[in-house]
Amino acid sequence: MQDRELYRRILGVESPWKVERVELSLAESEVHVFLEHEEQARWPCPECHVECALHDHQPERRWRHLDTCQYRTILHARPPRSDCPEHGPRVVKLPWAERSSRFTELFEALAISWLKQASQQGVGELLGLSWDEIHGILERAVQRGLARRKAEPVARLGVDEKSFRKRHRYLTIVNDLDRSRVLYVGEGRRKASLDGFWETLSEEQLSRIEALAMDMWDPYVASTREHLPKADTKIVYDKYHIAAHLSKAVDQVRRAENKRLRASGDERLTGTKYAWLRHPASFSEQAWREFRALRESDLKTARAWALKDTAMRLFDYRRASAARAFFELWRGWAVRSRLAPMVAVARMLTARIENILTYLKHRITNAVSEGLNSKIQWVKATARGFRNRQNFIHAVYFHCGDLDMTPGH
Ligand SMILES: [Zn+2]
Repeated sequence: MQDRELYRRILGVESPWKVERVELSLAESEVHVFLEHEEQARWPCPECHVECALHDHQPERRWRHLDTCQYRTILHARPPRSDCPEHGPRVVKLPWAERSSRFTELFEALAISWLKQASQQGVGELLGLSWDEIHGILERAVQRGLARRKAEPVARLGVDEKSFRKRHRYLTIVNDLDRSRVLYVGEGRRKASLDGFWETLSEEQLSRIEALAMDMWDPYVASTREHLPKADTKIVYDKYHIAAHLSKAVDQVRRAENKRLRASGDERLTGTKYAWLRHPASFSEQAWREFRALRESDLKTARAWALKDTAMRLFDYRRASAARAFFELWRGWAVRSRLAPMVAVARMLTARIENILTYLKHRITNAVSEGLNSKIQWVKATARGFRNRQNFIHAVYFHCGDLDMTPGH
């Protein structure tokens, strides 16, 4: 009798539900709480919410609840079915759990708050949950959060690819650049990988998108052109992606030249790889002075480096017409340099110049905030614990989506 009242209070069981009996299993450190309801209770139909008589019960089910006094606590009840004149027999909504879950809402809320802090494996061990149970809680949390996400406008987006586990396996991630959260995760980095994102947006949301940063990657361009009105004025090729192409070309020039020089005993370029790749602003004053002899030399690598350094000034311009004139000068210089890797980059940038110049208007890059980036890195670093890609995708939404995932309300 006392047990029943105690557990009624601990569990917050309210009319028409009551604690019918409590069984303690000392050997298993479990307490089993059996719930029953008042006989005369009326049950709202889950479809129309009209209060109905009881039709019958489903077989008894169990739900894991928060432990009580260090005992694993299991609720038992037979879910009633309402007898709606219009909709027929329907399983009613139970106050302690979501329909598909084997855990109470409070238990899921606890597991969710722990999963935000610790690895899936750690939480599984702490709460005594299997992989499948952990994944189920995580997946339900994400679905709940995505369903609640309002159709609010997103103005500035970034589309990024992330490699996953093994090389050459990719995810496409769409970030909200203004609110620093992940909006969408697609498998692969094909056109179809991004197509799925557009389908999650309303017409209103589509029309409010102002700009979209991305790498110079044709499948993303094709998907955006197909779905986003006036896409060509909104696509902005990522400045850092452009810098990476230029750096790679400088490095190709350096490698080839170093090989030639060393063959004749000239070691000037040996051990200089990172000096050429470094951003000028990240040099110490002394290191910059030491680098001077190299960058002002007549080496081909020095010319390639100067071409790269100059190209990036494009992004300092305000007016597109001035930037265009500057780029024409740069392009002529690059082509005349006869440094094959630099000529190739110049051709690529020329073909894509319109969506490079859109930067001057929108001023966005694909770089996300430090906070979001470190969360994505953390999910990637713990990816070894994920059994499949779907689980990894859920984890990205879970940790980086800024979703409201609390069960119940
Ligand atoms: Zn009904």
